Amino acid sequence: MSIIEKLIPTKFRQVPKFRRSLSLIILVNLLITLVSPLVATFFFNIGFDEGAYILAYSSVGTALFFVLLNVSKNLMLCGVFFTIHSLVVSLSLMSYTGGVGSPFLLWLFGIGPVSFLYFKKRIALFWTFFVVCCLLTMAILQFLDFPFEQQLPEKYFYGFWVFMFSFLVFIFVKLIMGFQSGLKASNRKLKASNQELERFAYIASHDLKSPLRNINNFIHLLNRKYTDVLDETGKEYLQIIGTNAKQMHHLIEDILEYSKNDTQTVSKEKVDLNKVLNQLAVQISGEEKYQNYQIDFSPLPILNSDFTRIKQIFQNLIENGLKYNDSDFKKVTIEFLAQKNTIHLLIKDNGIGMKPEYYERIFEIFQRLHNTGTYEGTGIGLAICKKAVLQLGGQITVTSAVGVGSIFELTFPKTILWQEEVASVVKVEAPRIEV
Ligand code: ADP
Repeated sequence: MSIIEKLIPTKFRQVPKFRRSLSLIILVNLLITLVSPLVATFFFNIGFDEGAYILAYSSVGTALFFVLLNVSKNLMLCGVFFTIHSLVVSLSLMSYTGGVGSPFLLWLFGIGPVSFLYFKKRIALFWTFFVVCCLLTMAILQFLDFPFEQQLPEKYFYGFWVFMFSFLVFIFVKLIMGFQSGLKASNRKLKASNQELERFAYIASHDLKSPLRNINNFIHLLNRKYTDVLDETGKEYLQIIGTNAKQMHHLIEDILEYSKNDTQTVSKEKVDLNKVLNQLAVQISGEEKYQNYQIDFSPLPILNSDFTRIKQIFQNLIENGLKYNDSDFKKVTIEFLAQKNTIHLLIKDNGIGMKPEYYERIFEIFQRLHNTGTYEGTGIGLAICKKAVLQLGGQITVTSAVGVGSIFELTFPKTILWQEEVASVVKVEAPRIEV
């Protein structure tokens, strides 16, 4: 615990660190910089002259800058600012108002103890020693009859403000630079650890595939060679093992796909959404699990985007529209509408829908609203979609009504359109359809 923290009463330690140290710093500085000239004026009957005004104004300035500096929680920088600022102001004021007999001597005395608040012991001792040396020099000069000025000349005021201004600008720039580099460093760290995690997930799931393949092979062998030996219960157990292995296979495939997304660069190519949807429609028609359905889409634009990711997004959303759907005749419709700066792609279904409290949750990885017994799945599809949409610079949201259906909305900036499309697309303005 730093010295500054030890000084804080226990009950205030509950308050977040930022507010604690901020209030303490302001308090200490106001005491030292504002109160000391007032004490000099009222208790020692010393005139509140130009020097005292400088102290009063610069104290307020100092307090304000402490607020700014402390935004980055940089107590050390606060200390440097306080010490140098105090030294320059008080030493120069003293030399203009009577050397060691100056009323501003009191202010200089504050530097030593206060630096113990901000710095480590060694640096604080250095500053105390420095102040003592300054005082001794002044005392010797006075002893040698050095002519200390008794009033502040105008050029001193200008010099003082120029110094203060440059110093503050320096600190401000340093603060911003520190803030930015801190931000960049933590961004880099976050990216690196995310990549490591993705790599780990990729390798782990990749390696899981081979033992799973063996399990499947042996289930197959058992089914082929030992069907006669196994009784009904044995066959049932074997079937359960098979179903679980299949579920695990899907899970591994999905995790692989989810982690692969990060390692693959986002490409820019001509992606005709109409062609993508036609391809998907053919692909889905080959799957037995989807029956009694129709996929409709109005004319869709050509994009300048990543083909694989776009296909992945639509495949997941369309298949979900058919899967989470108990209607006799399942319908998935894809509509397109353009606004001034954005384009919107709506994937609508007449499925089971969901309550509004799940709108956010379903996009998180492994979040499912149903168990695998009711609807098969891994809870990764929408997380893949969200990641891919974000990588393409867009957003994905959902609105839904239970028993009526859901609308998944993809929003992209208009810049995603293939250049030649932009002019024609503006005219395709359709009303937003509510669920
Ligand atoms: P999975 O389908 O593999 O479970 P998803 O990430 O695709 O994983 O979906 C997460 C959950 O969101 C699903 O378990 C389901 O409960 C819900 N969901 C997704 N799409 C729809 C939809 N079109 N209609 C209703 N619920 C949906």
